[in-house]
Amino acid sequence: MPEETIFSKIIRQEIPTPLLYQDDLVTAFRDIAPLVDSHILIIPNKLIPTINDVTEDDELTLGRMITVAKKLAKAEGIDQQGYRLIINCNEDGGQEVYHIHLHLLGGQFLGPILPKAK
Ligand code: AMP
Repeated sequence: MPEETIFSKIIRQEIPTPLLYQDDLVTAFRDIAPLVDSHILIIPNKLIPTINDVTEDDELTLGRMITVAKKLAKAEGIDQQGYRLIINCNEDGGQEVYHIHLHLLGGQFLGPILPKAK
């Protein structure tokens, strides 16, 4: 069994983080250290450590993460101006919390997808 992270405690509300959305498959809440004006995390309720660990059985959950991101972007009023969705994977991807999460980033111009890595 993979080791739980703080996100499992947020899902169960053992850490009382305000939730923006929760259903049988996914949970969404604001990032504790927002990088942009609107920074929301959408996570599966099931503990999946990294994108390397997803299987075909997770396709409904992964699809739900996207449709919930779309709804939250609209609720945030950033859907028309635009936004970015990111999932980091492992060390080079900059993953810090090993429970997959979709970053919904917007509310301001985001610029190029990445600073020049080389
Ligand atoms: P990543 O680098 O993709 O693993 O992103 C992890 C994100 O989780 C970071 O943006 C953190 O600010 C965020 N984060 C860590 N702990 C919490 C928390 N308790 N509540 C909300 N966001 C968190």
